[in-house]
Amino acid sequence: MSGLKLRGVRKSFGAVEVIKGVDLDIGDKEFVVFVGPSGCGKSTLLRMIAGLETITAGELEIGGERMNDVDPSRRGIAMVFQSYALYPHMTVRDNMGFALRFAGAPKPEIERRVAEAARILELEPLLGRYPKELSGGQRQRVAIGRAIVRQPDVFLFDEPLSNLDAELRVHMRIEIARLHQELKTTIIYVTHDQVEAMTLADRIVVLRDGTIEQVGTPLELYDDPDNLFVAGFIGSPR
Ligand code: ADP
Ligand code: MG
Repeated sequence: MSGLKLRGVRKSFGAVEVIKGVDLDIGDKEFVVFVGPSGCGKSTLLRMIAGLETITAGELEIGGERMNDVDPSRRGIAMVFQSYALYPHMTVRDNMGFALRFAGAPKPEIERRVAEAARILELEPLLGRYPKELSGGQRQRVAIGRAIVRQPDVFLFDEPLSNLDAELRVHMRIEIARLHQELKTTIIYVTHDQVEAMTLADRIVVLRDGTIEQVGTPLELYDDPDNLFVAGFIGSPR
């Protein structure tokens, strides 16, 4: 069970409030996409869920447990960023196994999980290579692989494909959809790309200036946007 529950979640940096009361329920194994203009608070919200930012007010539950003050490493979450810094001096295999080695996992267990992630992401032929020997898309797959080996209950993706060219983005989008099918985890995915949002999401959350403007399935938002702002973001003709 790895659904999420946010109640009255707020975040201030100094005197500036950037998340202004977010209420949201995300189902176990649901694929939820956050969209909204630059600066509306998408990354901040993800970082609070991951535990990389404190929650100023409100409640966060994951899998029915209150998470506000739980250490990031104990939330069952893995996050994949836009800028995926791989360790340049480590092979793909060692990059993927790093978090598990750091956590003191036994070597056979690390090898098993890295092999499994490499299979899912079709990285097997690249396990012995170094990051500088990889293309952008291959590096991003390794970054996703690093998250997979941790076997999280919840994946957070913050614009993971925005540094890739258009053709590769389409390919990776298909990979991520397949990943969700295969791993059956809860996913929260931030994107600027309407096509990504429409094709990947079970539900889309439209954010604006630190609040939720509308939540719905891609079809609901397309057919029945609450206002012009949502319509503009989803690309419906209204
Ligand atoms: P998005 O990901 O939607 O583009 P962010 O969550 O990155 O938006 O930022 C939301 C707002 O919070 C922005 O106005 C940003 O400048 C501000 N902000 C983000 N992080 C910090 C920080 N560490 N200190 C101060 N302000 C921040
Ligand atoms: Mg952001």
